[in-house]
Amino acid sequence: MRRRSWEGMRLGFSKERETRVIDRRSFVSASATAAAALAVGCERTPSSADGPTLIVGANVFDVRTGAMRPNTSLLLDGERIDAVAPTSELNASSSAVSGAEIVDGSGTWIAPGLIDAHVHLSHILYQSQMTGDEVLPFYLGHGVTSIRGTGDNVPAQTMVARYADSRPDTSPRVFRCSFLIDRDPPWHTDVGWPLTDVDQVAPFVEEMAAWGVTTLKLYIGVTREIGRRVIEEGHARGLVVSGHLLDYHTGDAVQDGLDCVEHIYTVSNFLLADPDDRHSIDLDSVEASRLVDTIAESGARVDPTLMVFWGTLLFMDQPEVFDHADNLPVPGRLRRFWAKDRDRRMLDWGSAPLAVREATWAKYLRLTGMLRAAGVQLLVGTDAPEPQVAPGASLHHEMELLVESGMTPAEVLTAATLENARILRQDDEIGSIEPGRLADLILLDADPLEDIRNSRRIRHVVRGGRVLDPAAILLDAPTE
Ligand SMILES: [Zn+2]
Repeated sequence: MRRRSWEGMRLGFSKERETRVIDRRSFVSASATAAAALAVGCERTPSSADGPTLIVGANVFDVRTGAMRPNTSLLLDGERIDAVAPTSELNASSSAVSGAEIVDGSGTWIAPGLIDAHVHLSHILYQSQMTGDEVLPFYLGHGVTSIRGTGDNVPAQTMVARYADSRPDTSPRVFRCSFLIDRDPPWHTDVGWPLTDVDQVAPFVEEMAAWGVTTLKLYIGVTREIGRRVIEEGHARGLVVSGHLLDYHTGDAVQDGLDCVEHIYTVSNFLLADPDDRHSIDLDSVEASRLVDTIAESGARVDPTLMVFWGTLLFMDQPEVFDHADNLPVPGRLRRFWAKDRDRRMLDWGSAPLAVREATWAKYLRLTGMLRAAGVQLLVGTDAPEPQVAPGASLHHEMELLVESGMTPAEVLTAATLENARILRQDDEIGSIEPGRLADLILLDADPLEDIRNSRRIRHVVRGGRVLDPAAILLDAPTE
């Protein structure tokens, strides 16, 4: 690969070059990665070359308009995007790109790297005798370049995040969350944290902020008094507050300033005709439209995580779910935990007749559509690695389910990139293809706006400017 000097070659493409400190990391071309992986038994050695990369003549997804920009070129430099312009202006013969590594983008559709807005990095894995670093390649190998933790052991997550930073060729960016803030004793003994006195809130939030989490997560047993204080203290420190709630009513929480509602049933559980029957959701009631409107007016986001209802809670006994192709590459330890968990779930959610569960599923999809229609911004999260929610692959399935709920592929793709970046307060760094942003991208062989399932057809993943081969990344993942 040739190097070139950047002096005097900016052409006004980049807004902040002078002030930005560029970390000139190595680029790894797809073929070099794969070849190296095969040559040394999967021990990949990143190329030592560095320099700009030009992707020429692609279709580029614009999250601002929801449209593909045909015949567009991208200039990457170091870990960032330097220029996005029509190929007629930016191509291999442009003086601005002399010396750049050229990647032929014709016949590809490029979207920002995907973000999973709801994952766990110690919970579930702990029960499976796995560590969070072991699942990271599954995300990056499926085009998920960032993941948003939503409640875990904080030191454990921090170690996973450090590992991810040290292995950018196989890991997504990791954004961390607090423990699950709950009653005493907490529902989850491995990742819960009881807060029962308002005086405990400020020190706890301060501690979480010092750890560097982006999100505070309120959990099912938290009271309104505690929850409201967490929201105040969290916002005072620039943290996002999310909630999977039961005792604290979602309508109250969003009016108190909750930023994000996790799981569609954190809405529907407050719309039960019979409080003892989780399937008795009434979406035609006055309460239903009132709650949907309250959420919309508050500006809170909803992260439906339809995958965990499909995979873990409603249809875990159905072969098309537990034997789904996405589950096959999942490590044996995790799959064995899933199988054990299935028996337990069958006695609970799974005990209702299939037709009842299917009716509840239809209501979840309908409620998701109602929220969207009312103007609520939806996020795209999965709850991986909950049973039958495969890390990485499940984000594509979640996008398919959101399309089924009535969103367009462009809306879903924007939600999975820009909107998920916004809930991380990272939209000035990731989630869009614009000069100055980190070069986190997926290059697809087919148009995801035509069929969202085309998001799975990943030719290259680009993570911080490194052009990577998804198959080679997955070679790094454990099978057992
Ligand atoms: Zn979760």
